[in-house]
Amino acid sequence: VMRESYASENDKGFKTLNPAMRPIVIVGGKGKMGRLFERMLTLSGYQVRLLDKEEWDQAASLVSDAGMVIVSVPIHLTEQVIQQLPTLPDDCILVDLCSVKKAPLDAMMAAHNGPVLGLHPMFGPDSGSLAKQVVVWCDGRSPEAYQWFLQQIEVWGARLHSATAEEHDQNMAFIQALRHFATFAYGLHLSEENVDLKQLLALSSPIYRLELAMVGRLFAQDAQLYADIIMSSPNNIALIKRYYTRFGEALAQLERGDKASFIKSFAGVQTWFGDYAKTFMTESRSLLRSANDNRK
Ligand code: NAD
Repeated sequence: VMRESYASENDKGFKTLNPAMRPIVIVGGKGKMGRLFERMLTLSGYQVRLLDKEEWDQAASLVSDAGMVIVSVPIHLTEQVIQQLPTLPDDCILVDLCSVKKAPLDAMMAAHNGPVLGLHPMFGPDSGSLAKQVVVWCDGRSPEAYQWFLQQIEVWGARLHSATAEEHDQNMAFIQALRHFATFAYGLHLSEENVDLKQLLALSSPIYRLELAMVGRLFAQDAQLYADIIMSSPNNIALIKRYYTRFGEALAQLERGDKASFIKSFAGVQTWFGDYAKTFMTESRSLLRSANDNRK
């Protein structure tokens, strides 16, 4: 119901929190995330201009009177595009939407002397709305200048969470890099084993079907984006490598037929999860129920 009410609000438009805002330029505005922000900003009464690959010859005039410039280009081009921006008005807010935060934020701080804000929308553009989604923000410079924009994002229904760029990137190593890589490896394995997906699904419990859906959906998305996310930092690779090592150690237990040590490790993890294990059990049970109810 919540989702529907936000969805219908989208058509009617949103409250304009900063009516005095000058035009907003979205660099990479013709991409998936750029379009979503264009739509949300337009529905909120702001004037939006797009600066995509073909518009660089007009870049200086597009940004000359801009109140805010939002960079939304592929991750591997983000720093380069920030460096390439023409001089922005002193009071212009420079924002990026990149899934990685430290390097783009540093690049924005170096490229512009005015207000700087790092944002990471923690969802794919296929969500179509920001309702109940999380947006992480990293302060760059002159936060008083962009409070209205953070509030505007809340008007769109999102939940904001602040973090330093370092904290963000450390947590994303788990939430994105390790997780997406493990998903990729699982998908790779299924394909190399050439399993019969149809049969696998026919024999699946709802939870396995859901797991398979979580894996399969990765491959409906942009390979470049995931390559960029996973390889965005040597820390990510180091984390994945530690996972690989632990995987191997756990496998060695199996090869030794060492159930006692498997059970001991299991109990250790159980203790570590603590009350969360029970919470997750309850939460996933209700998720599975509704997933099962929604299946045609
Ligand atoms: P996309 O590939 O759909 O869009 C990128 C756009 O940038 C394209 O329109 C492309 O033409 C344009 N572009 C490329 N080079 C350019 C240049 N030199 N100058 C101007 N424009 C250029 O990518 P996307 O999924 O919209 O991602 C954009 C940003 O959003 C990335 O920083 C990404 O990390 C972030 N993001 C994406 C997702 C997601 O799930 N797609 C989620 C969170 C954050």
